[in-house]
Amino acid sequence: MTSSDPNWRQLLADERAYAQSRADELRDSLDALIRKRQNESDDDEHDPEGDSLSSQWSMLTGLLESSKRQLREIDEASARLAEGAYGFCSSCGEPIPEGQLMARPFRAHCVECAKTRESPA
Ligand SMILES: [Zn+2]
Repeated sequence: MTSSDPNWRQLLADERAYAQSRADELRDSLDALIRKRQNESDDDEHDPEGDSLSSQWSMLTGLLESSKRQLREIDEASARLAEGAYGFCSSCGEPIPEGQLMARPFRAHCVECAKTRESPA
């Protein structure tokens, strides 16, 4: 590595801090929603807000799941960085172009392999 290389460790740390704070926020929102539900369950059985609460719930849990998955991916990328395997596609083994890594420092696959993985032919 030369001094002009991007500081991947720092980039990953930034991504992780961001993903972590996002996960924390989502968890807080879910907690608030749980409390709201508990308060309202004493009221009317035919709660007009019931539907919107449960759709909010599934939206928040979905977002929380994806930020947890992102945290795992970031940790895996950090592990690859420590092993010296960082920046290589986990599928084809080719180096991932720096531009792609800058956009998404924790990516484990090059754009081509990610494409085939996400939408199998
Ligand atoms: Zn690849």
